[in-house]
Amino acid sequence: MALELRMQPWRKDPRRAAASSVWLEEAMAAEPGFTPAVLEGDTRADVCMVGGGFTALWTALRLKEQSPALDIAIVEAGLCGQGASGRNSGATGHWWGRLPVLLRLLGKQDGVHLLKASVDVLDDVRAFIAANAIDCDLRSETSVWSTTFANQQGAWLPMFKAAEAAGVTPPHRVLSRAELKELFGEAPYFSGVAEDNALRVQPAKLARGLRKLAIERGIRVYEASPVTRIASEPAGVSVCSERGRVRAGKVLLAANAWMSHLPQLKPFIAVTSSEMVVTDPIPELLAQRGLRRRPGGVNSRMMLNYGGVSANGRVYMGRGGGSIAWANRIGPEFDFSPRMTAEVEQDFRYLYPELRDVPVAASWSGPIDRSSTGLPWFDTMPGDPRIHYAIGYSGHGMGATALAGHVLASQLLGRDDAWSQLGRLFLRARSGWYPPEPIRYIAAHAIRNAVARRDEAMRDGRAPSRLDTRLASYAMSSLPDRYRWSTTS
Ligand SMILES: Cc1cc2nc3c(=O)[nH]c(=O)nc-3n(C[C@H](O)[C@H](O)[C@H](O)COP(=O)(O)OP(=O)(O)OC[C@H]3O[C@@H](n4cnc5c(N)ncnc54)[C@H](O)[C@@H]3O)c2cc1C
Repeated sequence: MALELRMQPWRKDPRRAAASSVWLEEAMAAEPGFTPAVLEGDTRADVCMVGGGFTALWTALRLKEQSPALDIAIVEAGLCGQGASGRNSGATGHWWGRLPVLLRLLGKQDGVHLLKASVDVLDDVRAFIAANAIDCDLRSETSVWSTTFANQQGAWLPMFKAAEAAGVTPPHRVLSRAELKELFGEAPYFSGVAEDNALRVQPAKLARGLRKLAIERGIRVYEASPVTRIASEPAGVSVCSERGRVRAGKVLLAANAWMSHLPQLKPFIAVTSSEMVVTDPIPELLAQRGLRRRPGGVNSRMMLNYGGVSANGRVYMGRGGGSIAWANRIGPEFDFSPRMTAEVEQDFRYLYPELRDVPVAASWSGPIDRSSTGLPWFDTMPGDPRIHYAIGYSGHGMGATALAGHVLASQLLGRDDAWSQLGRLFLRARSGWYPPEPIRYIAAHAIRNAVARRDEAMRDGRAPSRLDTRLASYAMSSLPDRYRWSTTS
């Protein structure tokens, strides 16, 4: 065993950690005078996790529940929650929209089993947050999956068809024209399906809450400690930062897109960015302009918009399929891209005409670890079965990381139980790969630009060109019955 993994150099000019998203800024306001515990010198642990987002935090907490004596260390480059976990929109969802893919990859019984696991874990998340009194603005809302271009087909149709074939019933109900009008007024919403009780949280508050709980339960959390190298040695696996080292019996790589450059993972993951724009809290204005009941949700664009209103009355909107990473190297544009966020602001202006005079108060970017199926998987590194990893959440990691916590805990403990069986289903569902560079980068740009032009034409009521339609068909469609070589999320 002589595996050696080199992590990407950590940013030399970090923006203030709390500035990576408004959510993290809000969460850190509850931790005045915070100074991180930095990894220095040599230490040992039974399990060491690289990265301090939801994957690591949920797994560490589940491991402690299963095996309280286990000595666990988390080593995070920045702050826990500074990665995608603290930058996302907080929509904590299931895989109903992916049902056609699940059925195709796993067959009816196992596909429905995985779907059910993705639904059940949401109650688990709710119960965990309540039991541990984590302050993260947890709420259940109506969420709408819509079409926001005239003459666009709803992306939900294949889901309903697949559900009928599998004998299961989605939680979505079709909205009538009158209901659409009542919810969205004059905004361009042409059709939609609604789901009640959709789970929403303030994601950075949840991440910081899980971190606090982890520390209370005896898990060591090192922050501001970028890992540079991971090396297999006969006596254990060394996780090295610039100033310290953890020697561990087992390691979990939980660094999301930041580890997707590793040769073992690169063929199966393509990194794109997702961007978000938010307003200041404007609850009174929302009430004045009749937007109090405007639900959040997603639309059916290929570069899909997601958004809603936060518990404190910020309107937020995001879009997937932004920047593309050369060889999965994460540059500064994955923290903030002025060009991509300006495009998302245009989407915000289109979808919220009532707020045309309200400025965008903050915007940011984050990386998406896209797998070719849109599903994650959990495995060990070829060459050293002591090194585990989780990757491929594809922009839908809020619920999936909670599921991963159970699966990875079983996997790390070497158990053969319902969770590790579920883990094997994820492995079975894994399929597809991306071409090497430079083909990957060139093709991804051609497809992305075609998707953008096609979306723009549809928004303006023009017919997209045949070439753009053809090229766009190679992208991951938000139509969930197709999975292709993808640049969107
Ligand atoms: C803008 C955006 C919006 C999204 N919206 C949604 C949504 O609404 N719903 C949903 O379900 N999902 C959403 N996602 C996806 C979701 O946020 C992720 O799938 C999920 O947070 C992944 O968690 P993680 O712990 O695996 O990764 P992360 O939270 O990214 O954690 C990885 C951590 O590793 C750290 N790290 C990197 N390199 C090193 C190193 N060398 N040493 C130590 N640590 C390192 C990073 O700093 C980071 O904190 C969104 C993602 C983005 C970017």
